Amino acid sequence: MGSGKVTTDSAPFDFRGKHVTVAGLGVSGIPAAKVLHARGAIVTVVNDGDDARAREQAEGLEALGITVRLGDGATLPEGTELIVTTPGWGPAKPLFQAAAEAGVPVWGDVELAWRLRGPDAAPWLAVTGTNGKTTTVQMLAAILKAAGLRTAAVGNIGVSLLDAVLGEETYDVLAVELSSYQLHWAPSLRVHSAAVLNLAPDHLDWHGSMAAYAADKGHIYDGNQIACVYNVADQATEDLVREADVEEGCRAIGFTLGTPGPSQLGVVDGILVDRAFVENRQKNAQELAEVSDVRPPAPHNIANALAAAALARAFGVPAQAVRDGLRSFRPDAHRIEHVADLDGVSYVDDSKATNTHAAQASLASYESIVWIAGGLAKGATFDELVTASAKHLRAVVLIGADRALIREALARHAPEVPVVDLDRTDTGAMLQAVTEARRLAVAGDTVLLAPACASMDMFTNYNQRGDAFATAVGELRA
Ligand code: ADP
Repeated sequence: MGSGKVTTDSAPFDFRGKHVTVAGLGVSGIPAAKVLHARGAIVTVVNDGDDARAREQAEGLEALGITVRLGDGATLPEGTELIVTTPGWGPAKPLFQAAAEAGVPVWGDVELAWRLRGPDAAPWLAVTGTNGKTTTVQMLAAILKAAGLRTAAVGNIGVSLLDAVLGEETYDVLAVELSSYQLHWAPSLRVHSAAVLNLAPDHLDWHGSMAAYAADKGHIYDGNQIACVYNVADQATEDLVREADVEEGCRAIGFTLGTPGPSQLGVVDGILVDRAFVENRQKNAQELAEVSDVRPPAPHNIANALAAAALARAFGVPAQAVRDGLRSFRPDAHRIEHVADLDGVSYVDDSKATNTHAAQASLASYESIVWIAGGLAKGATFDELVTASAKHLRAVVLIGADRALIREALARHAPEVPVVDLDRTDTGAMLQAVTEARRLAVAGDTVLLAPACASMDMFTNYNQRGDAFATAVGELRA
């Protein structure tokens, strides 16, 4: 590549002699810097922090001949032709303002992987959405495997895209989870087929507005070749398909929990059916699997399974593989995970329900619930969640820093529901919450941890919060 600015078309990329700034040390920054250096770029890494860990990481990179500038992630290094950023850095950062003024493009980890793919690279089937991404991508990988294809679930989960694209392993197709951050920084991405599962307010501080968040998610459809998969129940996802700049002949495919129309996948009498990838879709439908093949068979999770099936079918996978793949799928921990049954009450850990949209799906999955909720609200409001879920609530136990917000919403919309408000955030709080929940539950109920909040006020992360719940349930049994 000659001198001058890097363009953002999707031509194979030659990094030799290019001045590339890597923004942010860490999970994606360090491998990006190494790859770029190995490809002949002149790499400078900039990082806000300057602590002992950053220094240690910097030493490792400097030993390879990479320049590292600690304690200043804001100033654009002289001569920068391209920035490769960690996806967590938001667009409002001064570094990106400076880049925009200087006409320097910014790529994230996904764009970098996309540009480094070889000529025979595996196609990508991509998934985004506010909730359900990891589950759907794992279901998709299970279905593709059941069809005998070499594949992996990659991206915002497990294996990084760089590793998947540059590693030794060869794939027929990749099941790729993409976050809104990653999509924001992936200007030239154009995948085989993609799905947006749902769209609810989240991460608005990063994106600046709901419109900007939606636009970044919608970018996943740009350049799709075979199918743009949308959620019939979520108009915003269909709107994004309409606005997308797709390849000629690419189809819009809806998924619905109801009876599917032509070019849709849906559910008829407990059977998942395809009316999109069949001969004569005006008249015919293909049976794919039974609702009971999906684990757990909660409504939102059946929607995830339909989205995964739609992407697999867009890739030409036979119906039998959809069934086999869904049957072999096991959800990750802390996602509607059944922990125990005690005195006819079932205890379920959905600690991963860290926002109100996820918690609402979870609360819709059980008839009568003692709900354990609370934590860090991240600016959310709870009126809609409480209004929609009130009929399922036997009682509520509140924990965490922002529990007053949920208590007030309950007082407004479900004043008859008993509420226990636990004014403690120490490590014993979860045991007390579960003990209270047991007292309030009657046989046939579900005690559901679906906090609708982040966990960091009391726990390291949602995993630890879910583990604390399971341990507490274990202590009740003892
Ligand atoms: P993500 O990767 O998008 O965070 P996960 O598959 O890890 O999604 O699921 C996160 C949480 O979101 C789950 O614990 C569940 O409560 C909820 N959830 C999963 N799928 C959906 C869906 N389709 N709609 C709404 N909520 C969902």
